[in-house]
Amino acid sequence: MAYERDNIRQMQGYKSGEQPENADTVKLNTNENPWPPAPAVGEAIRHFDAGQLRRYPQPTADRFRRLAADLHQVHPENIIATRGGDELLRLVITTFVDPYQPIGMTEPTYSLYPVLAQIQDCPVVKVPLGDEWSLPDDFAHRMNKAGVKLSLLVNPHAPSGSLLGMEAIRKLARDIDSVLLIDEAYVDFVDPDVAYDSASLVEEFDNLIVLRTLSKGYSLAGLRFGYGIGAESLIRPMLEKTRDSYNLDAISQRIAEAALEHRDHAAWSWKQVRTERERLRSALTALGLTVPESQANFLLATVYKAGPSANDLYEYLKEHGVLVRYFDQPGLADKLRITVGTPEDNEQLITHLQRALAPG
Ligand SMILES: *Cc1c(COP(=O)(O)O)cnc(C)c1O
Repeated sequence: MAYERDNIRQMQGYKSGEQPENADTVKLNTNENPWPPAPAVGEAIRHFDAGQLRRYPQPTADRFRRLAADLHQVHPENIIATRGGDELLRLVITTFVDPYQPIGMTEPTYSLYPVLAQIQDCPVVKVPLGDEWSLPDDFAHRMNKAGVKLSLLVNPHAPSGSLLGMEAIRKLARDIDSVLLIDEAYVDFVDPDVAYDSASLVEEFDNLIVLRTLSKGYSLAGLRFGYGIGAESLIRPMLEKTRDSYNLDAISQRIAEAALEHRDHAAWSWKQVRTERERLRSALTALGLTVPESQANFLLATVYKAGPSANDLYEYLKEHGVLVRYFDQPGLADKLRITVGTPEDNEQLITHLQRALAPG
């Protein structure tokens, strides 16, 4: 006898990227930051008083919310702290979308979105991206026409790394009749010259939520800490009603505060990633792969038609201790998504790719 709901029985779960036990693996498959977190994070862990665990944590992570509000020049009421960005996605869906109401997204996009939609039993409206991963001009219109209650957009886009500018986000927030979530998991790696700061738009629009995470930019994927920025009217129902009563433990809150207080260290790593991103992109291009510019900490490389397939290259690299991501999906089957690693990681990738692609 199966007791789960029909939609749960029928769905496939989210497939996480491989997390190998072997520490020698060159891990370029899940977009982690290759640099360690700030030393202050280690100190916060070492100095944490175990006695504090006797008590429940501060329920809404208020100290963290104040730090995040200062950073983005909004009010603490505009911030909700969550167990990773992924918890925010789940909260937004369960707070703003009834079962059977549609959720809009692009194709391709972050593969967790359709999984979360299925859990809530919501149909998904998928809009294919155009050339060079551009968002179709009529995206907002199509969302409205389909009656979606929530649109999920990842910016910079995953898995391509392309970035929609501030004006485009402003226009979408204005034109879409329902809630718009901009998932900025990779925004820390955006070139500062682009002057992208969508958090400043939440004061202007009552339907815009921006997702942030400490997983990528702050080298804390193992911590599980993210946050949302939005109008108070959007944040409050999640903060006061749908959030788990104590969604963030005391240790995580302390670590996350330290990470934000020592943001300079993280910012140093973003700069390294940007430099390596361009170096890696040139090297891959020189090997005959087609690699569009990326504003994230990964590159999406299309393999050379006459050579080995993307899947073959993925397997070859894996055999040689280098993990990248292969998506067996329409539009992505001839591509590899490669996280930007340290100079040494990237060198190993290039060396093995050179061998795999060498004629004969
Ligand atoms: C990593 C990621 C997130 C959030 O991840 P958490 O580790 O849960 O904070 C959200 N969206 C995208 C596109 C991501 O890649």
